[in-house]
Amino acid sequence: DLGVMASMTQNLDPATCVAVVEGFGKIIGGDDDEDDEDYDDDDDDDEYDDDSALEMGFVVEEDDDDLMKPRPPVVTIMGHVDHGKTSLLDAIRNTRVTAGEAGGITQHIAAYQVDHKGQSITFIDTPGHAAFTDMRERGANITDIVILVVAADDGVKQQTADSIVCARQAGVPLVVAINKIDLEASDPNKVMTELTQYDILTEDLGGDVLTSQISAKEGTNLDDLLNKIMLQAEIQDLKANYDRNAEAFVVEAKVEVGLGTVATSLVKKGTLKIGDIFAAGETYGKVRTLISTDGKTRLKEVGPSTPVRIVGFEGIPAAGDSLIVVDDEQTARTLAESRKRITREKSSNLYQTGLMESVSLSFGAQRESRYLYVVVKADVQGSAEALTASLSKLKLENEEATVTVKVLVSDAGEVSKSDMAIASVTPGTTVIAFNVAASMAAMDDARNQNIPLEYYNIVYDAIESVESRMQEVLSPTP
Ligand code: GDP
Repeated sequence: DLGVMASMTQNLDPATCVAVVEGFGKIIGGDDDEDDEDYDDDDDDDEYDDDSALEMGFVVEEDDDDLMKPRPPVVTIMGHVDHGKTSLLDAIRNTRVTAGEAGGITQHIAAYQVDHKGQSITFIDTPGHAAFTDMRERGANITDIVILVVAADDGVKQQTADSIVCARQAGVPLVVAINKIDLEASDPNKVMTELTQYDILTEDLGGDVLTSQISAKEGTNLDDLLNKIMLQAEIQDLKANYDRNAEAFVVEAKVEVGLGTVATSLVKKGTLKIGDIFAAGETYGKVRTLISTDGKTRLKEVGPSTPVRIVGFEGIPAAGDSLIVVDDEQTARTLAESRKRITREKSSNLYQTGLMESVSLSFGAQRESRYLYVVVKADVQGSAEALTASLSKLKLENEEATVTVKVLVSDAGEVSKSDMAIASVTPGTTVIAFNVAASMAAMDDARNQNIPLEYYNIVYDAIESVESRMQEVLSPTP
């Protein structure tokens, strides 16, 4: 909730620890040597020592299986520019609004729910997939299903490939919508064949990726697409506990005349009610009004997977902030203040480097940002992550430009054909095989398409080679 990503075995920095403890309304005491067992090393269960957890003020709230009830799927639409994402969202929204409203002003709505055969589907309308990745980096994994829109007359393009990588990294399954089938130039089969290069096997080709052929413009087959979404949701068996304090994510927040801060949010767990006190990012508040996202209905409460406009914030939260309901205002305020302090500390740590950068920037003219794209495959996930972390820190610059590394894939396993397909999208993308081999097909692709494929078993060597490629991007030899 503080935006710090850490698993159970990783250490947290002191500021975060303090914030967490204070967030639960406790303070950290001094040494008291009555209990020296910080860890309990028995391998009976992976459980915390209950007493010390309580002493720290933590309440580990688990959702009991019996309390879990089905919830609607949350869907994000992704794909290449101009392939019809906006048209599809509009088409879905417009066919579902009640008669009389159709043709009305279509204003941007960050999230909304549509009704399909008595069941709800929630759509997140984020501009492009940047919002999706941004939110995910902040720990806000709100999407259950990605609809990959591919124009049937244009096929798989750069952002189509990016979207695939993005969804895969997030572990979110795809439903493919082949759009613009009304056009004469449309060739759905070609799209399906192209997708196989990315290990996406559509139903027609005997795979299990659900696919619809649609025309967003003419409204063709939208029902079929919605059916497929419901089917995919059923496979995922999406559930949530409705009966607990709510947790939500802010999708978009702005100040509106007469209402103050209005945050379009999506409830993830529990039920959010009027009067609930909450902390959200660096601010807090009390739910004064809940409004449906189309602005028409005032609600008393909302359950999981439901988007809602919340009024009652003290400040303005940011997109991706998590909102959690707490017991009293004191806790809410402390949590918000702790988060604020963490942000401040982080930025003061960054201050030194930031200062250096801005000084050199103000002396030099505006520099162009350039990137070296790489695909990293390694024998184990840990090595892939470690190498990716090192590569992401590299930076070269001169008066004209700065070059940094963008890692498109960071994964365990041999270099496959789909890695090559991803690498082939941007010329110059380097594929690094760390302690792994490449499949025959991948090697063929590397040769035929001139994609650099390099093998390493020493991290330093890999870094050195990437640096020399970055140098080449910075000042290309004519
Ligand atoms: P986005 O950039 O992915 O959001 O794409 P848009 O929804 O803005 O659509 C790009 C262009 O394609 C617009 O001119 C749309 O009218 C057109 N378009 C979208 N869907 C269809 C379709 O099903 N058939 C045809 N013929 N055109 C479409």
